Amino acid sequence: MRVLVISDVHSNLAALQAVLEDAGQFDALWSLGDVVGYGPQPNECIATLCAYDHLYIAGNHDWGVLGKIPLDDFNGDARKANLWNREQLDAASLAYLEAAPEAIVEEKVTLAHGSPRYPIWEYLIYASVAKLSFGFFETKLCLVGHTHVPILFALSPDRGDCQASRLPEGEPFTLGQGRYIANPGSVGQPRDGDPRAAYMVIETDSMAIEHRRVAYDVEATQALMRKAGLPRRNITRLELGW
Ligand code: ZN
Repeated sequence: MRVLVISDVHSNLAALQAVLEDAGQFDALWSLGDVVGYGPQPNECIATLCAYDHLYIAGNHDWGVLGKIPLDDFNGDARKANLWNREQLDAASLAYLEAAPEAIVEEKVTLAHGSPRYPIWEYLIYASVAKLSFGFFETKLCLVGHTHVPILFALSPDRGDCQASRLPEGEPFTLGQGRYIANPGSVGQPRDGDPRAAYMVIETDSMAIEHRRVAYDVEATQALMRKAGLPRRNITRLELGW
């Protein structure tokens, strides 16, 4: 099965559409949370995803927008954007976000927004923290988002050490003997210095994962954010990819 894996769309419809067009044929679509927040088109992003039979889980921004976690837990610009996103949501979008589970296991893969240990909030940036996470899921592979940085953590089967690496773009990597945590990066707000939308394609039969990027119309999203009066820092960062 060929699976399109996306995360952290953050209400950026232009980026989401570019990914859906670039991904080619896929049998399943998995979204790792934070479909809303930051960007200008929350309802449109949710409606676009709902055109596909897809799996999705909750992210911290999804919960912030819903009021399930206090907006005081976010920095000022993220808080303002979440408040604005909350005001835009229609009934269908609210119901969609409310229905999101914290984590799921599908096709021998665990999905969690932040980490399998603390799905909503924990950031897996370093191998030392990622190593602890392997005790909190059973499958060979766990997919996370949240940091907006594509990365692969590998736990070796013999020594039990954990190493972080970046997957090369456009080259499928077949998982080896160990266990893995992979982050596809962010569709709608990349933070690895590359402003192009990031996503992942997984072949679940061979367990091969591929990091992919696609350019999108950043200026179109920025123009909508300006019109909505969203924080300037969040507008600027899209063209820089941080
Ligand atoms: Zn996010």
